[in-house]
Amino acid sequence: MPRVKQLCNFYLGFIMKSFEEIEKIDAHVHFNTVRDPLFKYGQENNFRFLSINTDMPLFSSLEMQKATNLSLIEKHHKRLHFVTSFSCAEWQYEGWQEKVIHKIKSDLQEGAIGVKVWKNIGMALKDGETYVSIDHERFDPIFNFLEENDIVLLGHIGEPKNCWLPLDQMTVRSDRDYFSKNEEYHMYLHPECLGYDEHLKARDRMLEKHPKLRYVGLHLASQEWDTDEVAGFLDKFPTAMVDLAERICHLQHQAITDWKKVRAFLMDYQDRIIYGTDCVDENTLTDKELVEFMDGRYRSHWEFFTGHHTMTVPKVTGQFRAMNLPHDVVEKIYSKNAINTYGI
Ligand SMILES: [Zn+2]
Repeated sequence: MPRVKQLCNFYLGFIMKSFEEIEKIDAHVHFNTVRDPLFKYGQENNFRFLSINTDMPLFSSLEMQKATNLSLIEKHHKRLHFVTSFSCAEWQYEGWQEKVIHKIKSDLQEGAIGVKVWKNIGMALKDGETYVSIDHERFDPIFNFLEENDIVLLGHIGEPKNCWLPLDQMTVRSDRDYFSKNEEYHMYLHPECLGYDEHLKARDRMLEKHPKLRYVGLHLASQEWDTDEVAGFLDKFPTAMVDLAERICHLQHQAITDWKKVRAFLMDYQDRIIYGTDCVDENTLTDKELVEFMDGRYRSHWEFFTGHHTMTVPKVTGQFRAMNLPHDVVEKIYSKNAINTYGI
């Protein structure tokens, strides 16, 4: 390569493209309604989306979520991808695993790019009086299938550590807001349920049983409260990834007291971190409100990763310095890691 070109490429690594210029993927959304405004926004601001179907009682059925995503994909070809999931309602029935595998196969044929498991496994699913964790042997045939066929598994297993604390001791406002409205999942109120560590241990035992399974620990793998914990998870499972959905505020909270540590984590694990917001669109906001709300979030996150000054956000009490990450690291977190992991 000519020396001038080499130097150009070297310096380009430091020159930050603008928010609109850089390719961005919000790799953790739940688009549960058919409408256009965020796609128009995505076109104008260089965003693509990954909608993650979730076996969640408050959402529409999994079939409905898939149908919604498929009709959006038809309309906004290549700007949206989706991840499928499966119900555990019949998990103890004979032949349940075969049915699940059949559903996964057919959803993959329709365009799904991975499979999600949710916190209902570990927190709600029961065998008699015992909570059923993700490492239960009845899941093994399903995870074997994913492992053998190189299909990525996305896991929201456990919850932020705040979930086991009283509301007034939680570190970020978003957790206080969520758990005050969702008491059934506020584990501080349910000491009879599994503890914080038990969920993580069950996940690790599952991953140890399936060493070739490609896994994404959603929400910073539920170890959001300390970047050293997330780093420990990523070191233990060298092919695993994590996403940032609804947990950037936890990085910001830690940056108040230890900016260097948070930045070092993002630098050291720049190939393992995937950007996402956990945006849920269920038609509760008008088109204009939705776009304004998401634009505000997107730009605030952008400022956090690329800026270099002190900032504040509503979810966090206190000031912190932005991360001032190099251009190539920003590109990995915002799109390249998602492209490599999800093949989108
Ligand atoms: Zn989510």
